[in-house]
Amino acid sequence: MKEQKLGTKCVQAGYTPGNGEPRQIPIIQSTTFKYNTSEDMGKLFDLEASGYFYTRLQNPTNDYVAAKIASLEGGTAGMLTSSGQAANFFALFNICENGSHIVASSSIYGGTFNLISVTMAKMGIGVTFVSPDCTEEELDAAFQDNTRAVFGETIANPALTVLDIEKFARAAHAHGVPLIVDNTFPTPVNCRPIEWGADIVTHSTTKYMDGHGAAVGGAIVDSGRFDWMAHKELFPGLTTPDDSYHGITYAEKFGKEGAFITKCTAQLMRDFGCIQSPQNAFLLNLGLESLHVRMPKHVENGQAVAEFLAGHEKTVKVNYPGLPGDPYHELAKKYLPDGGCGVVSFEIKGGRAAAETFMKHLKLAAIETHVADARTCCLNPATSTHRQMTEEQLEAAGIPAGLIRVSCGLEDKEDLIADIGQALAQV
Ligand SMILES: *Cc1c(COP(=O)(O)O)cnc(C)c1O
Repeated sequence: MKEQKLGTKCVQAGYTPGNGEPRQIPIIQSTTFKYNTSEDMGKLFDLEASGYFYTRLQNPTNDYVAAKIASLEGGTAGMLTSSGQAANFFALFNICENGSHIVASSSIYGGTFNLISVTMAKMGIGVTFVSPDCTEEELDAAFQDNTRAVFGETIANPALTVLDIEKFARAAHAHGVPLIVDNTFPTPVNCRPIEWGADIVTHSTTKYMDGHGAAVGGAIVDSGRFDWMAHKELFPGLTTPDDSYHGITYAEKFGKEGAFITKCTAQLMRDFGCIQSPQNAFLLNLGLESLHVRMPKHVENGQAVAEFLAGHEKTVKVNYPGLPGDPYHELAKKYLPDGGCGVVSFEIKGGRAAAETFMKHLKLAAIETHVADARTCCLNPATSTHRQMTEEQLEAAGIPAGLIRVSCGLEDKEDLIADIGQALAQV
């Protein structure tokens, strides 16, 4: 059959029931799986046969949903994790170890910044952060002999910068390492980083993929394109025998298409156990079934709210790549031709106090530490996630005290604009 279009994949990919089997993905609520002989089970432990034995490593519900996400991203293999944090940690730690180094865009989610710069540093993994807007020369200069991966976000949360994926992929490949892209904000509906040269794609499925604020989760997809054996000495975990699996060499046994995800499941899921519950995977799949219908509406609302705010006398600045004046508009036209996402940020005149007054008067948009679900929500970093920082520190971090992030949901845009307009009038 011809390669299906994206919407069809959102609805049907990953799970095809047999005759008389459940139409909806079954929730396999079982920790363990039964075998007739020890020999049968032994083959699973030796990775000689594929199948299930313990849900800490793999569960069929999760695998159906992971296969759908892999198909949407155009990858060859995928896996679910308990959260987006776990997805990014696993994707990096699968190829990095004590003594390795990562080149990362400085414009990334705060949780990921902390994961790499603090927690992974304690594991002996170094990092050089580069501006997403750096020149090819500056990017090249960030690499070291021990660099093992390059990391960035398609649209960064919350800065809303757009990554020049081709530029980062070229640099990574010139140094024999993969590019890992967190594609949480656009989702594969609006951008498929693998088509632009990314090797591994990660997601916080907690955001638009679930889309209803119901289940925390993450996903990793492998493009199946990176040739680990061609850079054998850089990735010994994939290209030399794994003693904890009877001497299997992942890149030889599972090839480019399967090595990364198989190792990540067999080693990291086994040892860290950041599995997504099958219940959450089921909820995630309900979100995926309408992802292609919801994303255009989030974009429509984001664009309308950004345009309204940009023309308003009480705003200083509006960040939204869909606005013609935005510094990332050209990159957005290239990588996000159908729009990016529904998240907009803006600086209100009057700083912290004005932000507080504005948000207090919102009736539809709720104050939440969340983005990317069906209900519009907003956050003022200066009075919440960054409240320990002084006015000066906030300026230096590029987070003015009056900055407000609005995640536009699926309501009617006229109502969102009316709500924001009446709250601005109170300031
Ligand atoms: C939220 C988020 C994460 C972390 O995901 P969790 O599911 O909250 O662990 C990672 N990357 C991006 C871009 C995010 O927005």
